[in-house]
Amino acid sequence: MKPLIVILALSLLPAQSMFQSFKGCSLTGTITEMGTLYRSMDDPEIDRVTLEELRFLSASFLVKPAFFFYDDSEGNNAYSTPQTVKDAESVDGTVCFGVGLHRTQMKKSKGGTNIPIILAHEFAHTVARKYGLHLPTKQNELFADYLAGAYMFYRNQRFKPTDIDAAFNAFYSMGDNDFTNPDHHGTPGSRNTCIRQGFNVCQSAFKQGSVFTLNDVVQMGESFVTTHDLE
Ligand SMILES: [Zn+2]
Repeated sequence: MKPLIVILALSLLPAQSMFQSFKGCSLTGTITEMGTLYRSMDDPEIDRVTLEELRFLSASFLVKPAFFFYDDSEGNNAYSTPQTVKDAESVDGTVCFGVGLHRTQMKKSKGGTNIPIILAHEFAHTVARKYGLHLPTKQNELFADYLAGAYMFYRNQRFKPTDIDAAFNAFYSMGDNDFTNPDHHGTPGSRNTCIRQGFNVCQSAFKQGSVFTLNDVVQMGESFVTTHDLE
């Protein structure tokens, strides 16, 4: 068991009494306004791999949100928020990944490839905020899918072998969470279109000897989701 890691209350919280240490499952976390947050999955290998991925995500997306696992027992999910947690290193809000979602997707994916694509989607939301895109909800989600597709191409090229098809297939068949709500995220078909488009444009350019910058990918992603008829 790791020593208790104290995460201080959100600066927004008026009183310390709203904030308490929490121990559930095998994890030790802290209850905040953002839910019960954990710095660790209490598994050194998962923590190490996660940290590596977060570093590559930050280098790729040029954002540095704080990151926590959180208690998603009310419905497996992950999210990106502009909120910050006091004393957590963050210049770009916070990304949270559900403990339940992580466990489910680790079981489903060889080498955990499903985790990076979800993280990339959440980091893409952080990017959208930083660029001040203000897209309508569904387009914002599809934009994040486009960037996640682009990320998976460069991840495979520069970071780690990536089972692209498994990750893409898993991404829109994730069961009962808001990843699969068409009103919120677009239909599985549209999501698939955007993820693959993000991947394919990067792959085509790469084959011709060019590599896109983040600005390029953001512009292409925004243009794609706002000019195509996506449901
Ligand atoms: Zn999203």
